[in-house]
This record gives sequence, C-alpha cells and structure tokens, in this order.
Amino acid sequence: MMIFYFSPHQDDELLNLGAAICRDIDAGHQVFCVLCTDGGASGARRLLGDGGVCHWHGGRHAYPMDVPAFSAVRDREFTESCRRMGLPDDHILLPDDRAGDGQLTEDHALRLMRQAVSRFPVEQVAVKTLVEVTWRHQNPDHTAVARAALRLYREGGCASLTEYLETILYPAPEELPVMETILPTPAQRQRLLNAAEIYCRWQPEEERFAVGFHSVADEFIAFREEQISRVLTVR
Ligand SMILES: [Zn+2]
Ligand SMILES: [Zn+2]
Repeated sequence: MMIFYFSPHQDDELLNLGAAICRDIDAGHQVFCVLCTDGGASGARRLLGDGGVCHWHGGRHAYPMDVPAFSAVRDREFTESCRRMGLPDDHILLPDDRAGDGQLTEDHALRLMRQAVSRFPVEQVAVKTLVEVTWRHQNPDHTAVARAALRLYREGGCASLTEYLETILYPAPEELPVMETILPTPAQRQRLLNAAEIYCRWQPEEERFAVGFHSVADEFIAFREEQISRVLTVR
C-alpha cells in the first residue's frame, strides 16, 4: 500500500503519528508524510525573538525571524525528524501551497490531500491522520485535516482511512474507545527518540533553535517517556 500520513504542523507527525509511521515503514509499505501548514504561528517565534523569558534557557533570546525564516527552521526539523523515523526524502512532502499556520480550511486540506495521492490508483492509497475531536478544544488546523480526510475517504479518494487520537486529547470519552494502541519496538523507539532529538536541538549558530521543544516542551518531555500512537477508527 501507499500510506499517506497528513501532519497539520511540524511535530504532529512525530508526537502523534510517529509510532504508527515507524511500524508501517517496517512492514514494508510505501509511507509518505505530508505537511499541511507552514507552522508559522507558533509562540516560539516570539519567544526566540525576545517575546519573553524562556524558562528552559532561563533568560531571553534575541533571534528575531520573520515567518518565512521561522517556517524554514521548522521545516528542517520536520524533514530531519521524518528521515530519522525512516522515511526517504522523496516521501517527505512539503507542498508549496500548504496553508499558513492557523489558516488551514477543510477545502484547502482536501486539495492538498487529493494532490498528494493523485499519482496512485485509489485502491492502493491508505490515508492516516488525526481524528476530529469534538469533546475538547482541538487545534482548528487539526480539525480541518481530520474533516478533509473523511471527505476524501467518502468521495472515494482513498481505499481506507485510519484516524488517530492526538496524545494531548487522550483519553477519549468512554463511548469512543481507543481501538489500538501502537507501541514501538525497541529499535523503533530509538528512531523515535532520535527524531525527537532534532526538535530539541539547541545550536543557534547552526540555525537550530529547538522550535519543537520551545513550542510544546511538555509534549516532548512526555514523548521521551512514552512514544504511542492511538488508533481511534479504521474505515
Ligand atoms: Zn499540530
Ligand atoms: Zn529557550
């Protein structure tokens, strides 16, 4: 199968989908990972450009970046994270027409999805991404991706759709039990931790600003302990 993972932002592919991606790669599937936004709205941009005290570094930063520069730093983290999970470069997709962070609509996400899968026969295409969450506040870009994936599936644009529950929205209500908890093997765990290290790498002189960790430190700390993907539905 050609398995397409759609990641709303740089880091979702790892924190929420990483264990599943590694397992699919190891099962011999052709796995692709598509980034749907530029990730430009993270509070880390202001923090790095002296928007406040960084509690991690115990002081202020002075690395001002405009959105395109900041986004490029994040794209590098995403690309290297995907490589470390085991994706080949030509399966790591950062479409030119992806949305601005926080501005992804369902239609836009659907367009990106149709575009990504169009090279392959529908019966060979499996789509995997986050599930729409209604019981708690969900990042709107995540909701857009989830809804678009469902539309793609319903319009016959893919053979199957697997929806994952993002870690910070776990647990789901009792009536929506997690269908499968994907735990990495020891070797996969090492790849996932190596990928996480990219998002936490602080080497400003190399333009590595640990944007992932500056954005969602708690999630990375939790991920170092436990690298789980949770399947909520398979259609
Ligand atoms: Zn996200
Ligand atoms: Zn810092």
